[in-house]
Amino acid sequence: MGRFFLCEIIGERVQVIRSFNRLPYRVSDRTLRVVQVFIFFLTLLVFSTGCHVFTPESKWQRFEYVESEMGVNFKLKFYASSEARAERVAKSVYSRVEELNYIFSDYEPDSELSRLSRAPVGVPVKVSGELFEVLLIAHKLSQQTRGAFDVTAGASVRLWRELRREREKNPDKVLSLDQLRSAQKRVGFNQLKLNNNNKTVTLTAPDLQLDLGGIAKGYAVDEAMQILKRKGINRAFVAASGDILVSRAPLGRSGWKIEIRDVDEFGNIYPRTIYLNNSALSTSGDTEQFVEINGTVFSHIVDPRNGIGLTNRIQVSVISASSTLSDCYATAICVLGKEEGLQFAETRKLQVLIMELAEGVPRVTPSRYWKGW
Ligand code: ADP
Ligand code: MG
Repeated sequence: MGRFFLCEIIGERVQVIRSFNRLPYRVSDRTLRVVQVFIFFLTLLVFSTGCHVFTPESKWQRFEYVESEMGVNFKLKFYASSEARAERVAKSVYSRVEELNYIFSDYEPDSELSRLSRAPVGVPVKVSGELFEVLLIAHKLSQQTRGAFDVTAGASVRLWRELRREREKNPDKVLSLDQLRSAQKRVGFNQLKLNNNNKTVTLTAPDLQLDLGGIAKGYAVDEAMQILKRKGINRAFVAASGDILVSRAPLGRSGWKIEIRDVDEFGNIYPRTIYLNNSALSTSGDTEQFVEINGTVFSHIVDPRNGIGLTNRIQVSVISASSTLSDCYATAICVLGKEEGLQFAETRKLQVLIMELAEGVPRVTPSRYWKGW
């Protein structure tokens, strides 16, 4: 239908220009040119938006997509003027996420991140804008948390990840102290030098293993929303597993419906619905990925300062304007633990919800700025 309308507009343009010449009064060449330019830009607008500006928003339909990206279900929900348009938009979002995965993944041996991890010591490596931006945010957070969040912790993270996999076949498998120590020696955010002027990264120690698992999904979610906005879609929900970002609420609603875990007065955990708009919500913890050894639960999040998977049984949700920040803050606060994590949140006026599962009855503690409900 858009196409027909477009043809009509192009036809109309010819008609309008012709009929100007038959007008009883003179139309200057300049005016004609202005009209021509106006119609030209209108035509361009119709092309670029696929006509959806002409469909009233109240008629837009809801579309939902889910694809496996970055190792998780990457979901999109948004309102658009037609199915064809929604399909096109979703496709461009997913292809951008794939592009980002090829930059950030530590699973892909040829990703930009993996290539950087193999770079020779002391040699500055020019990296993409995206990789530099993520490494810079991560580096600042490492400094702020004195190493609780550390993207150079890849060697330790990988050790626990492999243990988890191996124990599925051999439940007696454990890590030796030697293994833990030698992985731990390869960790240190100060070994990564970032040069903001020429966007280079220099590794100053051998065998660093970079891992952006605690921040890359948030960044991809932010990027996905940017694309949706650029395409004129302003009522959207994007989620990569525990990293969620929403723009304006669906028409007539107060927000996007999201379920998070809460604890009632008796300590029972139950799903609680919150309504969110124009915000990012990330949740990190050990509820899905962990390894249990002799009754102790070790999270897939490690404490980079000792190389051990977290055992503090904590789950952290962070609401902020940016999914990149919510993602890395949630991971960082898990490592900091409740007391230090809350301090970190208060000084930065962050909306944080901490759920402790360890001792006895589960408990939920919101930061002073939490407005989640
Ligand atoms: P998920 O991505 O599983 O939803 P998180 O956002 O908390 O959960 O990220 C966990 C991932 O972050 C781990 O799988 C690992 O790749 C990476 N990671 C683990 N510990 C740390 C840490 N202390 N600092 C930075 N990244 C970490
Ligand atoms: Mg995270």
